[in-house]
Order: sequence, then structure tokens, then C-alpha cells
Amino acid sequence: MLISGKKIAKEVFAQIKQELEGEDQKPGLAVVLVGEDPASKIYVSRKHKRAMSLGYHQETHLLSEDTPQEELLTLIDRLNQDEKIHGILVQLPLPNHIDSSLVLKRIKPEKDVDGFHPYNAGLLSQGQGHLIPCTAKGIAVMLESLDIPLSGLHAVVIGRSNIVGRPVAQLLEQHNCTVTLCHSRTQNLNDHLSRADIVVAAVGKANFVHGSALKEDCIVIDVGINRSENGSLCGDVDFDSAREKAKAITPVPGGVGPMTIAMLMKNTLESWKRFHNH
Ligand code: NAD
Repeated sequence: MLISGKKIAKEVFAQIKQELEGEDQKPGLAVVLVGEDPASKIYVSRKHKRAMSLGYHQETHLLSEDTPQEELLTLIDRLNQDEKIHGILVQLPLPNHIDSSLVLKRIKPEKDVDGFHPYNAGLLSQGQGHLIPCTAKGIAVMLESLDIPLSGLHAVVIGRSNIVGRPVAQLLEQHNCTVTLCHSRTQNLNDHLSRADIVVAAVGKANFVHGSALKEDCIVIDVGINRSENGSLCGDVDFDSAREKAKAITPVPGGVGPMTIAMLMKNTLESWKRFHNH
């Protein structure tokens, strides 16, 4: 079975539109991009278009590559105070002269719709997550949509970044999975994979997981966005071989990607609701 993130995301957008019907004051999302990274530009423009299609107030702040850190922090301070803005997202990666962790900490936790502020990361780690990192939250929603009890399943997450792997592992543990978090120093990865009921691949290496390593009837969530040798988009999982083994698998594109944007819109809505005591 193919898990269509695109389809589930559409349902999320329809639900958001419905919730906002008749509201004069709409959620406001500010997206900040520093520099010219081509992939980041595409992501920022998708976020802009989606926010507009939902009727959000949307601001995209494009800053030049050499923007001083202080200038970026001043912009965040201003957005933190702005009552029209309920969600602030700083597109990563930032140029080398800027300290990303300092910037992420400057965003008010209540407006941190990416869920990367240490306050929100701390809440998630204690099982009280509110603004949860969008990709991880999107993966949890896709798994819930399968109507397969997750409790007791063995999940193997490959990748331990704060953006994807670590929060996914925490969420799956909170869904009562038994979680193995693998990373670049993990030994015998294939042994872990051969026992996994759920595999989440967030490595950033094209076709890194081959179907031959997987357990029969597992569920595969492919987070990777890579370019293959012929220039086409591909994930971290070798789709054709994995599809033979898995009972459910996400495609790339059309899997995790659309869910990330859907959860960003949802987090912005949640944040707006809190500001307006809904
Ligand atoms: P990252 O580079 O921060 O982390 C990669 C992780 O992979 C690291 O924790 C590392 O330990 C692990 N790793 C590297 N080599 C390994 C190996 N040989 N064996 C096991 N683990 C290994 O990347 P990230 O930000 O977590 O993103 C991962 C991928 O997901 C990228 O392709 C990125 O583009 C993609 N991504 C997609 C979405 C989406 O919405 N679809 C969102 C975020 C990231």
C-alpha cells in the first residue's frame, strides 16, 4: 500500500479552511530566509503559497547572505512583538557566520511553529509536546492514518537530527513503540532493520535502505529528499525493492514532504488559537 502524504495533507488543509470559516482575524505566519540556497528558496515559496491558499496573513522576509546576525535577531524581536504574527519560521540552514541555535532560541516559544526552540523540544521530550517539529508530527499523523495499532511495534529510526530523527523517535516512543534510534556510528544497521516493524529513514543519502534489508510486511517512511544520479528526486529508501517487502510505504515525492507543510499550517493554526483563547 502506498501512503499518500499528499492526500492526507489535502484533508488537513480542508479541515483548516473549515475551522477558519467566518473568522475575520486569520492566523499569521512569518517565514525568514537568509541567503540564496536554491532548495531553501523552493521550500519557502511552497510555504508562502500554501499559507496564502488558506487565507493566512503571510510575510516572507528575504535577507541577503551577508546579513549580520544582529539584524536577523532584531527582525525576530520585531516579529515576536507583532500581533498579526502567530508563527515564525527561520528557514535552515543559515549561513555559517550566524549561530543557528542562538537564532532559534530568540523566537518566542509560543510562536515557534517549527518546534525547534529548546523549550518546545523539552516539552516534547517529557511527553507534553505542543508545537512539535513539523516533519515528525506529519510522520505520526501518517502512521495514525493506517489504522494499525502502533503499540508494541518495533520502530527503527535512522538519523538523529533535532529536526527529524530525534523528535520522530520521541513521538513513536510516546505511541508505545519500542524504538531503536540508529545513526552514523551504529553498527550492523541491517540487523536492526531486519527486526523493524516500522522504518523511518532520515539520513539524506539516496537509496540508502534496500528492500533486501527489510522485514516482510514492515511499514516504511522515507523522509529523505535527494537527487539521484540521473537528476530525479529520490528518497533514502530504494523504493522499488522496498515496495516488494513493505505492507505500506511513502513515496518520494508525495509522501513526507506535503505532510511537513501541512503540519506547519496546523501548528500556525494552533498557535493562533492559543493567542485568541479558542
Ligand atoms: P542531517 O544531516 O541533520 O542528519 C542525518 C542523520 O543521518 C544524522 O543523524 C546521521 O547520524 C545519520 N547518518 C548519516 N550517515 C549514516 C549512516 N551511514 N548510517 C546511519 N545513519 C547515518 O539530516 P536531516 O535534517 O535529519 O534530514 C535527513 C533527510 O531528510 C535529508 O535528505 C533531508 O533533505 C530530508 N528532510 C526531508 C523533510 C521533508 O519534509 N520531507 C524535512 C526535513 C528533512
